[in-house]
Amino acid sequence: MQSLIDRGLNRPWYRLRLPDALEARYRAETAPESGRFVQSWLAVFILFNVLSLKADLDAFGVERVIVPMALTLGVVVPVTLAAILSLRGRPSPLRLTLAALVTALVDMAVVLTSARLAPPEHTDTYLILATLIPLVVGLIAPLPFRHSLWFCGSSFVLYLCGVVGLGLAGPTNNGVPLLVASLILVPIKLSYSREWEAKLRFLLGLREREQAEELALANRRLTTLAQTDSLTGMANRRLFVERLATAWAEACLMRSSVAVILIDIDHFKALNDTAGHAEGDRCLMRVAAALRAVSEAAGGLAARYGGEEFAILLPRAGDDEALALAEAARRAVADAAIPHPGLPDGGLLTVSVGVAAACGAAADREDGTDRLLKAADVALYAAKRNGRDRVEGAPPGGAAVLPAA
Ligand code: GH3
Ligand code: MG
Ligand code: MG
Repeated sequence: MQSLIDRGLNRPWYRLRLPDALEARYRAETAPESGRFVQSWLAVFILFNVLSLKADLDAFGVERVIVPMALTLGVVVPVTLAAILSLRGRPSPLRLTLAALVTALVDMAVVLTSARLAPPEHTDTYLILATLIPLVVGLIAPLPFRHSLWFCGSSFVLYLCGVVGLGLAGPTNNGVPLLVASLILVPIKLSYSREWEAKLRFLLGLREREQAEELALANRRLTTLAQTDSLTGMANRRLFVERLATAWAEACLMRSSVAVILIDIDHFKALNDTAGHAEGDRCLMRVAAALRAVSEAAGGLAARYGGEEFAILLPRAGDDEALALAEAARRAVADAAIPHPGLPDGGLLTVSVGVAAACGAAADREDGTDRLLKAADVALYAAKRNGRDRVEGAPPGGAAVLPAA
């Protein structure tokens, strides 16, 4: 889309149309919300026509004005009212142009007829007035350039036909009609510039929106990268610590508890030493997958906490729930039956697990998470010391010990 926008911005001055996809979007986004703007000007137009009758009456007397008056009140006013009515709701640009066009042409025809009936010394005034109608309507109505072409083109043709057909241009009176006829074409230039400017604003706005969206996407990607462990695809230590802080703050507020489970692979160095680092990485991924499945099912967050160390955060959980999840995690790794070539024949990879749960209290708010992690770490150390492949709970949560099954 960016390159399409740049193509639109760099197009030559004579190419008003945007590349197809952008042109369609421009039209959809800039379509008028309602016809009220043109409707209000058409109402002013009716007022002007009615008021001008009074000026004609004062200048020429009732006999000369009777026909223009009948045409204004019987044709121009009803046609303009019908145009106003046709613009109810959300009219298309075409309907707006047709309403403006029909009104302007009918009024111009009536003014040209009046020019024939007025005393000859007033003919030029009417001719000028007749050109002012499409000029003013064309300037005010927000017509797209291509609509402005027909609007001005048909007004111009009607004006010339009227001047010639009604004999308003005598052998010595060609200058004024031709000079003022050119006024009718003025809105063409204006609507071109107006549309060019509107499209420029549209393209710049679109580019700004796209850039903002790209930036937001890049930021989301960066955030994900900053919170994800690249080897296992699970949450990293940074995200774990952040979530733990949030869960702990909530626990302090609600007087609820939070549990932390630390998991360390047993004899992992021996696995690396015998099977190689790449095989060690594959084992880490398998352990991660097993821990994630167990933890997500329980509404917890599993993270890679360090090299071969993992952690699970279980918000709103007490000792019993945490010990049960810790045991499920230990069993999930055992059930994955990951071979450990560093152990005697047929040995499988196991993990040791330390658990700590604590109830949030305002007094512990500051260092509660550190103490919780420390307690889980001490429990993990106890699990190692007591023979590995087991779960140990930290005191004062009961110092429960769940031996390996
Ligand atoms: P213990 O049962 O006491 O935990 O023994 P251990 O061998 O697992 O403990 P130790 O801390 O001595 O060894 C951890 C090993 O984990 C050492 C290091 O090479 C390995 N390790 C750490 N990060 C990675 C990693 O990203 N990939 C691989 N393949 N190995 C890693
Ligand atoms: Mg370790
Ligand atoms: Mg280890």
